[in-house]
Amino acid sequence: MEIIHVAAECYPVAKAGGLGDVVGALPKYQCELGHVAKVVMPMYRTKFLYNNDWELVHEGTRTMGPHFFNYSVIKEKTNKLGFDLYLVDINGLLDREKIYGYDDDTERFLAFQSAVCDWLNKWQHKPDVIHCHDHHTGLIPFMVKYCLEFKDRLADIPTVLTVHNAQYQGWIGWDKHNLLPAFDSWKWGMLDWNNTINPLASAVKCAWKVTTVSNSYLDELRGAANGLENLFNYEQGKSSGILNGIDTHVWNPETDSMIIKNYDTELVEKGKLKNKKELAGQFGLDPDKPLISFIGRLVGEKAADLLPEAISQAIYQHHGKVNFLVLGSGDPELEDRLDQMNHQFNGYYNSYIGYSEPLSHLMYAGSDFLLMPSRVEPCGLNQMYALRYGTVPMVRNVGGLRDTVSDMGDWQGVGIRFDQASVWDITYSVGRAIDLYQNKPDLYSWMRSHMMTIDHSWDSSAQQYIDLYASLR
Ligand code: ADP
Repeated sequence: MEIIHVAAECYPVAKAGGLGDVVGALPKYQCELGHVAKVVMPMYRTKFLYNNDWELVHEGTRTMGPHFFNYSVIKEKTNKLGFDLYLVDINGLLDREKIYGYDDDTERFLAFQSAVCDWLNKWQHKPDVIHCHDHHTGLIPFMVKYCLEFKDRLADIPTVLTVHNAQYQGWIGWDKHNLLPAFDSWKWGMLDWNNTINPLASAVKCAWKVTTVSNSYLDELRGAANGLENLFNYEQGKSSGILNGIDTHVWNPETDSMIIKNYDTELVEKGKLKNKKELAGQFGLDPDKPLISFIGRLVGEKAADLLPEAISQAIYQHHGKVNFLVLGSGDPELEDRLDQMNHQFNGYYNSYIGYSEPLSHLMYAGSDFLLMPSRVEPCGLNQMYALRYGTVPMVRNVGGLRDTVSDMGDWQGVGIRFDQASVWDITYSVGRAIDLYQNKPDLYSWMRSHMMTIDHSWDSSAQQYIDLYASLR
């Protein structure tokens, strides 16, 4: 099968979160299964662009309302990611340093989607499936079905939407409807949700199949989906959950070049200690105390706003028997607060405010526990990386965290689970973590070596997507 993944992120080209990890890995595993999976994404000005060789494969012209733009599609020459990678270049719109966060993001992603459909429309043959990821590519299922230029050739290509995060929906005011390529106007309802053009809702309506990145997340969306609850209920019949995997080529403590000491299940204790000592040295922490880390976007969904209070209270309540390290960026006020705490809790807590892929790897390897108190967690990759690196995940019982982490009090449990995103639940769990670290060496050591062998690779999930596409032919 030939599968076209269309997305805003793809690791290592451009990544802001889990979406990038998934789009950088799933196609590779689908190719390994013998299919031809390709990725098409915007051409941002990232390091990857400058450090690789490209060939021009297509040039075209589009109108967008009163505007007019040229676009080109370039392809990475060596297939180094394990799949064909195509970047869409639109001068002045896409070629920027950041992926998101510009005032004209609406125009940027509209132009991108329109260019992708135009390019596919010019192909000699048709791919077997177009797989869209999140709202940035959510108008494509509508465009191929109902836009006048595309529908004759593209409407019969199956489309799949994967919802990585339904909080963000890409809302566009109806005053901008003329920026879309001309469409059957009586189909306007397929774009609309609550009097707004809603790209995510449109994709849920128009895609042939909808998947979410865990089963529990699909259940939760029926009750809480930032306004789309009724839609997820209505479209239940074509929806299913497929758990993300992790790229075990990238996330492997035996070969990871971003950590100080590589290790396997046999050497886990010594290996982790070396990495922990490096972290402790860099951040002024004590390697003899349990180290609890947080890695992620500093936003409400991740309950990052609870961190300052929860960390201060845990340090006081547990008499400084524990260390904390935070890596993240997001809400500027929270960034400031977490940064200021570095002085206040010198020796017990530290943070790196920003984005650092190498530090994240070192933290998965060198921490003893990884805290994820998320309010919403569609799948969550961090806990799976933690498991693979022998780091005990401390997670709230929600979404993909519920589906991947069992509590150490249960049969063969490998993590610490709690029910509420609250300071109390976090500090209580910190107590359990300290107890495990200090008083239960046998259990702790069994948990570490066992969790590292749990298979969260893409093999089975990549096949589940293939089966889903096959059901559409
Ligand atoms: P989300 O996509 O909601 O942010 P996921 O758990 O699915 O959450 O994926 C998060 C990914 O982003 C992981 O690979 C994590 O290591 C990475 N990440 C998040 N914040 C940072 C950061 N500040 N520095 C480095 N990596 C980060």
